[in-house]
Amino acid sequence: MNELKDDLEIQEVKNKALPLLPLRGVVVFPYMVVPLNVGREISIKALEEAMLGDRIVVLSSQKQENVAEPKPEDIFSVGTIAEAKQLLKLPDGTMRVVVEGLARAKIKSFIQEEPYYLVEAEEVTDNTKHTLAIEALMRSVISDFEQYIKLSKRIPPETLASVVTVEDPGRLADLIASYLMLRPSEKQAILESLEAEVRLQKLSAILAREMEILELEKKIHAAVRKQMEKTQKEYYLREQMKAIQKELGDQDEKEAEIEELRTKVKELELPEKIAAKAEKEIRKLERMGNHAAEAVVVRNYIDLLLTVPWTKETVDSADLKAAEKILNEDHYGLEKVKERILEFLAVRHLTNQIKGPILCLVGPPGVGKTSLGRSVARALNREFVRISLGGVRDEAEIRGHRRTYVGAMAGRIIQGMKEAGTVNPVFLLDEIDKMSTDFRGDPSSALLEVLDPAQNNTFSDHYLELPYDLSKVMFITTANGVQGIPAPLLDRMEVIYLSGYTEDEKVKIAEKYLVPKALSEHGLVKKNLSLGEKTLRRVISGYTREAGVRNLERNIASLCRKAGKEIVCSEVEKVKITPQNLHKFLGPQKFLDSLAEKRDEIGVATGLAWTSVGGDILPIEVALMPGKGSLILTGKLGDVMKESAQAAFSYVRSRSKKLGIDSDFLEKNEVHIHVPEGAIPKDGPSAGITMATALVSALTDNPVCREVAMTGEITLRGRVLPIGGLKEKLLAAHRSGIKKVLIPFENKKDLEDIPANVRDLLKIVPVENLDQVLEEALVNHVN
Ligand code: ADP
Repeated sequence: MNELKDDLEIQEVKNKALPLLPLRGVVVFPYMVVPLNVGREISIKALEEAMLGDRIVVLSSQKQENVAEPKPEDIFSVGTIAEAKQLLKLPDGTMRVVVEGLARAKIKSFIQEEPYYLVEAEEVTDNTKHTLAIEALMRSVISDFEQYIKLSKRIPPETLASVVTVEDPGRLADLIASYLMLRPSEKQAILESLEAEVRLQKLSAILAREMEILELEKKIHAAVRKQMEKTQKEYYLREQMKAIQKELGDQDEKEAEIEELRTKVKELELPEKIAAKAEKEIRKLERMGNHAAEAVVVRNYIDLLLTVPWTKETVDSADLKAAEKILNEDHYGLEKVKERILEFLAVRHLTNQIKGPILCLVGPPGVGKTSLGRSVARALNREFVRISLGGVRDEAEIRGHRRTYVGAMAGRIIQGMKEAGTVNPVFLLDEIDKMSTDFRGDPSSALLEVLDPAQNNTFSDHYLELPYDLSKVMFITTANGVQGIPAPLLDRMEVIYLSGYTEDEKVKIAEKYLVPKALSEHGLVKKNLSLGEKTLRRVISGYTREAGVRNLERNIASLCRKAGKEIVCSEVEKVKITPQNLHKFLGPQKFLDSLAEKRDEIGVATGLAWTSVGGDILPIEVALMPGKGSLILTGKLGDVMKESAQAAFSYVRSRSKKLGIDSDFLEKNEVHIHVPEGAIPKDGPSAGITMATALVSALTDNPVCREVAMTGEITLRGRVLPIGGLKEKLLAAHRSGIKKVLIPFENKKDLEDIPANVRDLLKIVPVENLDQVLEEALVNHVN
């Protein structure tokens, strides 16, 4: 370097003292035109001095930018001789000056330090030869610079045009250096490199480094921008959505809704856990788009959470007298049942226990099971809810679906509670015997949890997710028969049987309850409709055949409707319905007075059947035809009934001699037993004696008395065994115009339950064996 320096031709600038402007953070290169802000006294003075003369100053950087009053040693010795082109005094006393670098200069010495620096400076000229190597270097630097411009974007592309025209290597280096964004120390280093070649080399290195930095910067920038763009896009979209929602009024609505939900939670004074859950869900809802599909799910859930009762409770009325009055007010008869219910309530009251057995009302349809439940609720001053379990075969119906399912809902129990609105309603589970089980789980096991006092205080509903306390609920169940009730459930229940009503009872129920109720429901008053006892009886016997009073109720409602129409259309005051004009209102009679046979028939005996919908008469026919002595059974008979028929047949065969039947005849003929209404399945052993009677009648050509009906199981020895459902069967016999009923001797004790008028109207004959049966049933005496 020193060698090179020796080669330089250094000219003295007229050996003249020049004012010096110490620069901070700026390096001015020759040929560069830059504006400078000048504020320091020392600099202002120097400038003023220059302006007085030929405007030439020496510009040189300070070594430390932050030194306010630099000493000569604080200033670099290589600077630039420049001309102050323009000078502007600013109002705050500072100056703005545009300077143009003229040449590199070396400060030889400081001539004056106060009030400004005067230095003796030497212009440095560079006589570098324009060799090929230099040319190559120049081209490389220019091409690098071109790249740099492209990458940096800070330098206008036109700059390149001015750079390529420069032929002097030193000047080229200075020009490019002045464009680059370099640290002052770097610029100073270039300025101090007095030979063009060195400067170009340095520049080349700097450019290479800068480009690398720029590449990196670009990469970082791209990554950042990508991220920024994404967040910005999301932000923008969200804002847009908000704006749209606001425009549609949704946002306000949603805020209002959330606010409303929060106030509701507060008002309800929910238990802590529930309130916390509600708040959690509300927050979830808050975060959601208004129309997100899930928002509906969350909203429904919150709705349920806030409407299911958690603490609200009614106070039980302890007045048993009043309860009795209410039960009597709502229902006619049913003395025993009412008595049982009152006992049940009394025990509950005395033991002060909410836990206890569950009432199960069992009986045919329409006998008032549901309405009894309603009365119990009224008597206790509790809310009443009823759910029907008929056909429920999915555990989820009881317990709900998990919320993850589409269209999930709470189970029926929780929905019932929601309907009740209190934690202690009377909850009627209707038709508990009609539940069934399939692959979707067993609803009865879920029901077990509901009904079990030991575990129903933490009943879990899949949808609700929180344990629910059912222990204060009074459950009442109903069923048509106990057969269909799952044993574990039956175990927990106290069964109360309700049987069908006699005609007299039905008349009373109609007069006292059904007619007044129907009148008021149809906007009529008593004087609008005359419906006497005889007419009611005709309605009961001619238009209904049922154990309960449901059809009767329907027919009465139909009469009220028709009467109402007549009153309105024909402007009459009163409609009189009599047995004679009844058909005008209800159409032709549906059932004849007596279903029993019109004549005493051979081979036809009347049995009595008991189904879950009440009792009915069951005629059994026997026909004989030539054949091989076999037995044909038809009429959709169940296994037990078929066996019972076999037993009856065997008995008859074994007694053929005594009965006067030719045994040859039996072998040469076929016996066909048919039970009409062949499409209805029938089962049970209680038709045994009826089949035997019909057989004997057919085989002995001895007609059966048409007014006799019978029920009883038969043994091979001809003994008559007891049966169930006696009351229903007797009521059915009574309805059908039977006069005499043969019942198993052992069922005699059940006669107590039979209403007195039925007992009076029917001749009830307890029998022990088939001989007695035949004696009573056949027209001609056997033997
Ligand atoms: P179930 O539940 O046994 O099938 P419901 O309770 O639905 O029968 O009764 C049907 C209708 O008959 C109801 O309107 C009910 O009030 C009426 N009812 C039944 N039994 C009586 C009764 N003993 N006294 C008054 N009304 C009765």
